[in-house]
Amino acid sequence: MAMERLDSETETTPTAIPHWYDGDDDIPTIVDGEDVTVYDSEGTAYLDFQSQLYCVNAGHSNQQIIDAIADQLARIPYVSSGKHNDTRNELRARLLEVAPESMAQTLFSISGSEANETAVMLAREYADASKVLTRWHSYHGATYGMASLTGDTDTRAYIEPHATTTGNAKFLPPIPEAFDAETPEELAEKAANHLEFVIRNEGPDTIAALLTEVVAGSSGAYTAPPGYFERVREICDEYDILLIADEVITGFGRTGEWFGAQSEGIQPDLMTFAKGLTSSYVPLAGVMMNDDLAEYVAAEGFDVGQTFAGHPVGCAAALAAMDVYEDGLLENTREVAPRLESRLTDLEERFDVVSSVHGRGLHWGVAFADPEADEPFVDPRVSDEDDNPVETVLSTAGENGALFGMGRPNTQIIVSPPLCVTEAEIDEA
Ligand code: PLP
Repeated sequence: MAMERLDSETETTPTAIPHWYDGDDDIPTIVDGEDVTVYDSEGTAYLDFQSQLYCVNAGHSNQQIIDAIADQLARIPYVSSGKHNDTRNELRARLLEVAPESMAQTLFSISGSEANETAVMLAREYADASKVLTRWHSYHGATYGMASLTGDTDTRAYIEPHATTTGNAKFLPPIPEAFDAETPEELAEKAANHLEFVIRNEGPDTIAALLTEVVAGSSGAYTAPPGYFERVREICDEYDILLIADEVITGFGRTGEWFGAQSEGIQPDLMTFAKGLTSSYVPLAGVMMNDDLAEYVAAEGFDVGQTFAGHPVGCAAALAAMDVYEDGLLENTREVAPRLESRLTDLEERFDVVSSVHGRGLHWGVAFADPEADEPFVDPRVSDEDDNPVETVLSTAGENGALFGMGRPNTQIIVSPPLCVTEAEIDEA
């Protein structure tokens, strides 16, 4: 059958797939951007308080990053991951300067999903064990392996009926929703005790790793109660379980430090990152690891060898993005974050339907609940986005020139502007 050709005079845009906006086909077509603002094809400006997918950390169209990409392209666009490349070597060294102390070496990857694949593959090989502890409501990626370790029901819907790899995923409950506690300290203790119970019940020798976001990213910016991760580190050490911090959203300044592990006081064994690494101007991801794992990788020659892993253009973008973060955006994040927190906390006080506000740095979740029933507006297990009041909040915001994210499950919005945001833009949004 002959393929229908698009006539560029009359039709330049294929039918848009309704995603997060309003279920109609009037999703804006973004054609331009500068700093925190993006523009659609009609010239309408939007404050991008979603940083697209919580990833354009340096803001849109930063010239320093664009120039670095152009320079690398002009010099040598691609060098395979098996060879040395000066830009890649420089990035490797630079990452060590800013990462948590426990980190000793980097393997590059392409996307966050693939970085997590590599981390889990390495952890399983190193520990000679298959099970991985993860959490309901977590998000770790869209590949088969990572969807099977993701606790978000929408993502799992694509693999549950087919995957044969899900058996080795053991799910922990999401912390704030699952444990009754009077104080944050009690919550930390109950959640950590539960983790220890699961480990003993499964058999510590059968578990390779705990894979965890350090601030729950796309499920709604939940932070762990103080003391929780300290206990997690102790428990992982006691039972010889590798602690993998998924920093795909929290990395590169989003929490006000280089990495979320630093704002939460964690020394992970493995750490994965993507998005903010290049401010998402080009795809690049990575896995950092501790000394023992680095030695193992060197001795065993562990290498997953993807063609585009550690692409020099991505490495050039990452080095420039890191300069931008260092030369002011990390500081700006720390300066303006209290303003964002206080404006969002105001909402909780003003509106009964806002049930909680939580987050770190410039990544926040605003949860909505029916005040009569004190429940999420939409039961995550039966959510129908067409009837979802949170969807209405998002589309109304869009019509008024501000873009926010939808938390998974769909009971909250996520507020996550680029790190160059000003207090005036926070007030406006
Ligand atoms: N891990 C976390 C915490 C994420 O938020 C995401 C993506 O949103 C991923 C992993 C997967 O990253 P990617 O979409 O680059 O594969």
